[in-house]
Amino acid sequence: AAPLVIAVSTSISAKQGLLIRNRANFEGARRLDAVVFDKTGTLTEGAFGVTNIVPQEGYGEDDVLTWAASLEQNSEHPIAAGIVSSAEDKDLELKKIEAFTSITGKGIAGKIDGKNVKVVSPGYVNNNNMAYDQNTFERLSEEGKTVVFLLLDDELAGMIALADMVRETAKEAVASLKDEGIHSIMLTGDNQKVADWVAKQLGIDEVYAEVLPDDKAGQIKTIIRKGWKVAMTGDGVNDAPALATADLGIAIGAGTDVAMESADVVLVKSNPKDVVSLMELSGKTYRKMV
Ligand code: ADP
Ligand code: MG
Repeated sequence: AAPLVIAVSTSISAKQGLLIRNRANFEGARRLDAVVFDKTGTLTEGAFGVTNIVPQEGYGEDDVLTWAASLEQNSEHPIAAGIVSSAEDKDLELKKIEAFTSITGKGIAGKIDGKNVKVVSPGYVNNNNMAYDQNTFERLSEEGKTVVFLLLDDELAGMIALADMVRETAKEAVASLKDEGIHSIMLTGDNQKVADWVAKQLGIDEVYAEVLPDDKAGQIKTIIRKGWKVAMTGDGVNDAPALATADLGIAIGAGTDVAMESADVVLVKSNPKDVVSLMELSGKTYRKMV
């Protein structure tokens, strides 16, 4: 009878917007101890808008935005899209870029008009002992905003704050998990204060911030070593190693191809609440088979 049950559950899952890529791991989903979520693009929409530009002396807001957007044109990160669209809204003319590299989990770097240009995370700036306005940074972060820094020839030129929207459905997902006694964990490359702010909105149990992509997979291994069965949910290239490491890897449909290729299940509707639906469906499928 098993094949028939599987065929039926496949069509049910397709209707619910679940694309099952690895059936064995999907069936294990009926007894999870914890669900780990990436923040940006998973618990949040991943659609950033620029809210504040804080230039250093000698620069204007438009200068900061122009340099940053000129570089970010080449990045696929949601932060990049927010910065570029803000520059477009202001009709700023972007500069031609001569070289470009990404600094994994920390930002991007390139060359424009003979200058070394970087847009980087607070972690990068702290590691390089660069001075900046701590009060402004903390105030923005405590409002849940993601702050990035523009460096010109390795000198600070300004800060850009961006806001993202928390997904309403993420809140419902976390609440349902809690009802089932399942632990919810956030794993993000973003700053601790922003992560705490989002976690508080959603009722997340545990938060790991400023985590580099390889460390995301390491964190999953640590949870597995506790004897827990764990699912990872993510959208980004940086989530792929963690998705592959977890007992169940769940990709957000609107996310990157790399994430989807590393996952066992894809949430076609990009709705975090479908994590709960898939656990229920997995439980039903399994019960019919035994
Ligand atoms: P998340 O886990 O939340 O998806 P990432 O690992 O993609 O975050 O990024 C971590 C941090 O690195 C970001 O919060 C940002 O500070 C910085 N960063 C990454 N990519 C870029 C970019 N293109 N421009 C500016 N900053 C970036
Ligand atoms: Mg993400």
